[in-house]
Amino acid sequence: MTSYIFPPQNVFAAPIRGRSELFPIQRIFCVGRNYEAHAREMGTVVDREAPFYFTKAACHAVPSGSTIAYPPGTANYHYELELVAAIGKAGFAIAAEAALSHVFGYACGLDMTRRDLQLQAREKQRPWDLGKDFEQSAVLSDIAPADLIGHPDKGRIVLKVNDVVRQNSDIGLLIHRVSALVAHLSRYYHLQPGDLIYTGTPEGVGPVVAGDRIEGLIEGVGSIALAIREHD
Ligand code: MN
Repeated sequence: MTSYIFPPQNVFAAPIRGRSELFPIQRIFCVGRNYEAHAREMGTVVDREAPFYFTKAACHAVPSGSTIAYPPGTANYHYELELVAAIGKAGFAIAAEAALSHVFGYACGLDMTRRDLQLQAREKQRPWDLGKDFEQSAVLSDIAPADLIGHPDKGRIVLKVNDVVRQNSDIGLLIHRVSALVAHLSRYYHLQPGDLIYTGTPEGVGPVVAGDRIEGLIEGVGSIALAIREHD
């Protein structure tokens, strides 16, 4: 029997709406600049030719409803509400027409960001890891199976901080839609069940501080909540 010198980390798994089993998370891919108005507010432009990605470690996921500490190393901690596609079937070089058959379901995600560190990295042409891939940076709601909700291609995406609306857009405005993302990403990775794709955030990103409450919803998908407390 295999023994470990210390206990291996627990798998993070998300609840599945209407099911008792959990959805174990493998990899977390995130799409950058996938709404025109968000790219503009970041002082950039969208690339309509092809999406680009960054990743977050699966152990950096945190369930909706959590209260988490303000993270270290930042003075500009931002929310980004996103539609998340959860892969349920393995595939490589998937055709766009077949892509949605690889999607098990959808969730609401918060791509929490240390914006100051991301922008410093961007300026210096360095990787974004410090700004994007840190503890508790990938907040995830329950997963709504496509069997229940279909494959939503439009619907309001709204985020409130302390009951004030900060993001208000529509997932129909995604530049690269889920089918295109699955097709494109699967040319570079062998997609596996448990992989997540955070599809990008609309405009209206902004900072949160300790004491703030975030609530998000995506019409036809579900809702997500997060509270921020003082750092440890
Ligand atoms: Mn994002």
